[in-house]
Amino acid sequence: MVAVKFGCGHGAAADDPMAVAIRRRCPLCMLLDETQRTRGDLLGRVVPAGRRALAVETRVGAEYDWQCRRGHDRFRATVIEVLTGPGCAKCRANASAPGAAAREAGMPFMKPGLRVGTSMTEQRLRVMLGERVRLHHRANAVRLARTFYGRQEVWPDILVAELRIAVEYDDPGRSRRAHRGLKEGSDVEKDEALREVGWEVIRVRAGGLGALGPYSIVCRALTADVVDEIVRLMTEIRGADAVDRLRVHSPAIP
Ligand SMILES: [Zn+2]
Ligand SMILES: [Zn+2]
Repeated sequence: MVAVKFGCGHGAAADDPMAVAIRRRCPLCMLLDETQRTRGDLLGRVVPAGRRALAVETRVGAEYDWQCRRGHDRFRATVIEVLTGPGCAKCRANASAPGAAAREAGMPFMKPGLRVGTSMTEQRLRVMLGERVRLHHRANAVRLARTFYGRQEVWPDILVAELRIAVEYDDPGRSRRAHRGLKEGSDVEKDEALREVGWEVIRVRAGGLGALGPYSIVCRALTADVVDEIVRLMTEIRGADAVDRLRVHSPAIP
C-alpha cells in the first residue's frame, strides 16, 4: 500500500521517500473541522493509553477506548462514533429519554466561545441584515430535540430569534470544497433538526452552490439585493406583521 502524506501533516512520515503527498487534510482532521472540534478535544476523551496513536490518527473508523465525559464507564467506539454520536451506552439511553432537554427544544441561547471560523462575508451579512431587522446578539445556538454530531444544539451563522429563523451563508470557500459532499448532507440534516423544533432556515448559496432546502437564495456574491431577498423570505415564512415588528427604521434619506 502506498503511504499518503496529508496536507495537515498526518499520514506517512516526513522522510518516507515512497510517500505520496496530497494537499487535502486527512479524513480525521476534516471530520474535526466539520464537527467544530479540535484534536485536543478528542485527545481529552480517549483513555491515556490511546493518546499517542490518536494524536496522529488519520482514519475516522479507527477504534479506541474512551472515557465517558459524563462519568459513566469507559467504552470502545470508532472516532466517527465519538464525534457524531451521543456517547457511551448510558448516554445514548439518556439522550433518547424525554426530559429537560426535550422541554428546552427550540430555545435560542448564548454558548460562549464556541463558534469559530466566522468568515468576513458572514460578518458582512450580519451587518447588512442588522441594518434591516433587529438581530438578537445574545444568542448563537439553538437547543435541539435530538443530538446533532453528538451535541444537543446547533450554531447557525445568524439567528433571528424572534422569528425562529436561522440564516446561513454558504460558499465553496478557497478550497472550493466546503459545503459540498459530506458537508452538504450535514447541512440538510442540520436544517431538519432545526425544523423539528419550530425553526426555519434561509440559506444564502454563493459562489456556484446550488439551492439547498426550500428557502435558498442562489447568488454569485453577497449584495444588498440578496439581503432584501432574505427579508422577503422572512415575510413569506412568518408573515409581514412579525417581520415589521423587527424592522429597523432608519431615517429617510433626503
Ligand atoms: Zn490530519
Ligand atoms: Zn456516558
